[in-house]
Amino acid sequence: MSDAAMQSDVVVVGCGIAGLAAAVAAQQGGARVIVLERAPEDERGGNTRYTGAWLRMKSVDEVSDDFTEHFAVNAGGYLDPSLVHETSKDRGNWPPNLRAMSFADPEVVATFAEEAPKTLNWLQGFGVRFEKLEVPFLTSVQPRMAPHGGGFALVEALATAFGKKGGIIHYSTAAQSLIQNDDGAVTGVRATGPRNKPLEYRGKTVILGCGGFEGNAEMMSRYLGPRSLFLRSMSKGCHYNKGEGIAMALAIGAAPCGDFGSFHASPMDPRSDRAGPSIYIYPQGILVNQNGQRFVDEGPGPTDETYEGVTREINAQPGGIAYAILDTTLAKVAHPESVVRSEVPPYQSDTLAGLAEQLKMPPDALEATVAAYNHACVPGHYDEATMDGLATRGITPRKSNWARPITQAPFIAYPIISSIVLTFGGLRVTPQAQVVNQQGDVIPGLYAAGETMGLYYRNYTGATSVLKGAVFGRIAGMDAAKANRV
Ligand SMILES: Cc1cc2nc3c(=O)[nH]c(=O)nc-3n(C[C@H](O)[C@H](O)[C@H](O)COP(=O)(O)OP(=O)(O)OC[C@H]3O[C@@H](n4cnc5c(N)ncnc54)[C@H](O)[C@@H]3O)c2cc1C
Repeated sequence: MSDAAMQSDVVVVGCGIAGLAAAVAAQQGGARVIVLERAPEDERGGNTRYTGAWLRMKSVDEVSDDFTEHFAVNAGGYLDPSLVHETSKDRGNWPPNLRAMSFADPEVVATFAEEAPKTLNWLQGFGVRFEKLEVPFLTSVQPRMAPHGGGFALVEALATAFGKKGGIIHYSTAAQSLIQNDDGAVTGVRATGPRNKPLEYRGKTVILGCGGFEGNAEMMSRYLGPRSLFLRSMSKGCHYNKGEGIAMALAIGAAPCGDFGSFHASPMDPRSDRAGPSIYIYPQGILVNQNGQRFVDEGPGPTDETYEGVTREINAQPGGIAYAILDTTLAKVAHPESVVRSEVPPYQSDTLAGLAEQLKMPPDALEATVAAYNHACVPGHYDEATMDGLATRGITPRKSNWARPITQAPFIAYPIISSIVLTFGGLRVTPQAQVVNQQGDVIPGLYAAGETMGLYYRNYTGATSVLKGAVFGRIAGMDAAKANRV
């Protein structure tokens, strides 16, 4: 062991909700725990630090009705039915290929749903308070819960509890690769400390809670393609997540899981310098690209279920940008500050041509698009709180709900790009958060939680990422402490 080596029972990589839940749970289980965090202390906590942390929960004690179903519907691609059939067997009898398969493992999802209430109750023990949240737009399921003070409150509560019990967080220290013994068990990590100092941390187990690869330009291009250039991080926290947790485990044979070619997309105002400046007002008006043309159904269904798909369409437009065009009457909604979270005022003009000039798009194209859209609007009952079915007629693309003409000056526009909130690709784990190799066997001593474990495909199951970090971080910490005792 080098001079710089550090020894503990459990080495946790990352200091967001996944890493901190793991660290505190392992500590409670009697283990000595070290946490490595790439960020300096005043920026610790990754994406968790910046999120409002909506939770797909009806109450502290119950997940939302569609919780497991949403994962099942988005479980993967066209899965091999013969393998899916095997999931009905006892897990001990699953064939190796199934244990290593990339899909939303129903047992992992079942554990997630079962443990979520216990985890929130556990978090309350650290002074976290959960509140019912009135979601400002139409959702497919009940209102969500959120911790008072958002993700920042979670980071502060857990980091404080960890520190009070003697836990040490090594800041500005980034894990780079895993150390294994001759039996293939993971026994530590190699890391880079301040001033590029090489360090080795040894432990009986390593828990990877170090986010996805949003902050790694090379991995982004490799997995998400060249258009990832047009994505902007949802928060500064993304920049610390450079994918080493995933890469270092794949390098020792871990199985991948989650949709590596996709990510959670959210519509954002590119002019804002806030975390999460989402623009959810576009269903009230229309979306046009830089050429002044519509390209998508702006009201296909409940906003929480559809904004990701709409945002992907925006990203596919020239320059990865679109503009929500409304008039001032249409922009009057019940919760304006919640559906427009940007601090930057919209572009505004008394004429559509004037608006187009500000947006650097052909004025005649915007005028023609709005005229065609207005012509396709029909009289009917408008209701922003329901899918009112007030649809356009005879125009492509159709707008399926909330279609009212854009007529009353002044006209306004919000620019919208796709943000990247989190990457979907990660590591295959068991319901105990143990990382599995490509042969379907557990890699002894290695756990993953949060964004580092893969579970999402197609359409993100909204308001479950913080929860996933908390639930599987806690499970990993408890299991690692137990393993430490035997
Ligand atoms: C503005 C915003 C709003 C959001 N809204 C919601 C929401 O309402 N509900 C929801 O569920 N999700 C939401 N999300 C997503 C959610 O915040 C994250 O997916 C979740 O917090 C991830 O937790 P994590 O612990 O896995 O990763 P993170 O919180 O990102 O933590 C990862 C940690 O690992 C550290 N790290 C990375 N690499 C290394 C390394 N090699 N060595 C050491 N440390 C490393 C990072 O510095 C960071 O501290 C939102 C995100 C943002 C930005």
